[in-house]
Amino acid sequence: MNQSIQYFAKEPKIYPKRVWGRYRIMKWVLMAVTLGIYYLAPFVRWDRGENAPNQAILIDMANHRGYFFFIEIWPQEVYYLTGLLILAAVGLFFITSLAGRVWCGYLCFQTVWTDLFVWVERIVQGDRNARKKLDESRLTWEKIYKKTITHMIWLVIGACTGGAWVLYFNDAPTLMDNLAHGHIDRPVLGWVIALTLTTYLMAGFARQQVCKYMCPYARFQSAMFDRNTLIIGYDEVRGEPRGKLNKDGIGDCIDCSLCVQVCPMGIDIRDGLHYECIACGLCIDACNGVMEKIQRPAGLIRYDTMVNQELRAAGMADHSWKHYVVRWRSVWYVGIMTVVGSVMLYALVTRSPQEMNILHDRNPLMVKLSDGSIRNGYDVRILNKTHEDRSYRLRIEGIDGARIMMQGAGQNDPEHIPVFADSVGHIRIFVIAPPKEAMAERHDIRFILEDLSQPIITEEESMFIYEP
Ligand code: SF4
Ligand code: SF4
Repeated sequence: MNQSIQYFAKEPKIYPKRVWGRYRIMKWVLMAVTLGIYYLAPFVRWDRGENAPNQAILIDMANHRGYFFFIEIWPQEVYYLTGLLILAAVGLFFITSLAGRVWCGYLCFQTVWTDLFVWVERIVQGDRNARKKLDESRLTWEKIYKKTITHMIWLVIGACTGGAWVLYFNDAPTLMDNLAHGHIDRPVLGWVIALTLTTYLMAGFARQQVCKYMCPYARFQSAMFDRNTLIIGYDEVRGEPRGKLNKDGIGDCIDCSLCVQVCPMGIDIRDGLHYECIACGLCIDACNGVMEKIQRPAGLIRYDTMVNQELRAAGMADHSWKHYVVRWRSVWYVGIMTVVGSVMLYALVTRSPQEMNILHDRNPLMVKLSDGSIRNGYDVRILNKTHEDRSYRLRIEGIDGARIMMQGAGQNDPEHIPVFADSVGHIRIFVIAPPKEAMAERHDIRFILEDLSQPIITEEESMFIYEP
């Protein structure tokens, strides 16, 4: 028989029901805090003096700088960013190993924006049953009105999201002022439109499918789970056999299906642990509400570990919290975070306000002058990371009698090299060594840069080449 194989199953729309309880409140609070930070942080000011921007968090693409309150990152210092990413990743692994997918359930931007969009949907169209009914109903003026309002609010939220993002790359008050006067650059506009549409599509339509099919983290985080990791667990021993209230011989689960109706992933947690579960705790709130009404103890669904579930099934007492907090896995993660954090802190505290990069000429490697002296050329970049103009002295060590000569009109004094505030000074120099001292194939030399206004010294190793 010729059977056609279906490779694609359409994802049914999920209509999460309204729920109230401890975890729902926690989610609202975290949503308010994270969205508040995201939308308002670009307006926080930070005084860095006259020659620097006063936006606390700014990625200044035009001048190749990153600002985060008192921290200022130059392109040469991108390792700070690497360190931050490592810290963030290991921090996430640590939290996942302890408490499962709580990042996904409470703080991931997909969850936060989807929650916000579902809230809008609920305000305009009503709770689960009303939304379902509206979707299934024929086209009426009421349906058009409610759907239009919902989508318009979604688009406004999307636009605010995209708009806030570009503020991190521009001076926020100036950009807002330009926007108010209708002046907006094309790249900025492009970003706002792109992020408006992605927010609208991801939080309005894709929703749980992003977590299920698009997010790579959802796939590999099971590697951080073990039997002591907190998961959302249904207490089968207590709950089964499920059935109608007051029926003889049944467990505490009255099979009301509220835990399924509130789930944003459309899961029935009573079937066991699902890889789709984002540990949001809403089914706990729903079930605790039911337990309160039927006067049974809360916690039929709860954050639990597999070890505790097994212990309880065997009639034994739960392990204490120390068992899941203090584990080799968590000790490793904390160790890595401590090492990376300490290295970053050390680098930050000992960060020099000046830097020097030196590149020996490749061609020619050396030049023999008419008096027999040997000359090597170098490209020197001096980074003045302060917000004031500075002057420097450049010296060389490693060859007796060698001297530095500057190349270029108006720049002929290595004792006084001016570099503007917050900029890179680019100079060309020659090192000229007497013939007797230069007669070795290669000398290891050291350039020494001194700030003339304060005792700060930077050293850079290089070489001096002689070709017979
Ligand atoms: S099963 Fe419970 S914790 Fe998991 S996603 Fe659904 S509501 Fe959230
Ligand atoms: S909410 Fe609680 S009582 Fe109702 S079906 Fe779910 S587990 Fe059973």
